[in-house]
Amino acid sequence: MRTLKVAIGLGAALLGAGALVFGNSVANAAGPRPAFQMPFPCGQGWTGNNPNSSAHRTPWEIDWNRGGSPGADLGDAVVAAAAGTVVTSAHQGSANGFGNLVVIDHGGGWKSYYAHLRVRTVAKGNRVAHGQKIGEVGNTSRPGNNISPHLHFEVRTTDRSYPSNIQPAYFNGVRFGYPQQTLISHNCGAAPGNPYTPVGVCGAGYQQIDAQPLTAPGVVAGTVDLLYNSSNGNNCVVTIKHVSVGTKNSTSAYLQVRGRQRVTDSGSYAHYAGPIRATARNTCVSWGGSVGSVRYDSPFEHCG
Ligand SMILES: [Zn+2]
Repeated sequence: MRTLKVAIGLGAALLGAGALVFGNSVANAAGPRPAFQMPFPCGQGWTGNNPNSSAHRTPWEIDWNRGGSPGADLGDAVVAAAAGTVVTSAHQGSANGFGNLVVIDHGGGWKSYYAHLRVRTVAKGNRVAHGQKIGEVGNTSRPGNNISPHLHFEVRTTDRSYPSNIQPAYFNGVRFGYPQQTLISHNCGAAPGNPYTPVGVCGAGYQQIDAQPLTAPGVVAGTVDLLYNSSNGNNCVVTIKHVSVGTKNSTSAYLQVRGRQRVTDSGSYAHYAGPIRATARNTCVSWGGSVGSVRYDSPFEHCG
């Protein structure tokens, strides 16, 4: 009996240690949260709301709208919040209220849900990149359920049962400002017509950790992208042009590690500026860049 008691005590201690280690993430099976971005194209502003829908089962689902009238966003593009594989692309009929539903499996026990779509533009089994169009905002639901157009979005893990498997959403590394927040999408996927990508320019081993759209009225001129290579502790900054692609104009990118001099690449470039790489493990960085007269300057951040 004594041995058994000791064993139980040890088990409890190990569970306690596990809870401590994983206290900031979801308990149990799910891996690290994917680098989710908003489910809309780079530079667009949308308002997300949780409590206005009586259909929501948790404080974490988000209904997204933009524009001055209930139907203003009908048909607007919906894009993948992170890369993954489409595991559902089907109208749900009367099985639930989702109507036209796309579900993307991001691996590691994480999925994202996109509901009420007017049309779905991906099929089950498709691989999708982050920022890739998967459908359009709509008002489809179960028969007889009349709703106004919006995108219902949620993030789920596989290690809990419904509805507690619905988790708070994070965009660009920041928890959504529940219950309601208006945000600009940093879901800056490939630039139309530009063959260069942030990872392609910075190199193998780099992962995108932040992206800032360079937004002029009515147009995204480009993106400034911050990447990190966890194997060597290097950050990398690149500015990718979205306009005047292939035509040389003023383009810049810079990276400053706190306590050191800023390094800038500025010139007349056809496709991108940078890459600027610097080691910055456990050190804050300031980063930014420009295309034409549109520029972005970050504060010192990403200090981990
Ligand atoms: Zn909803």
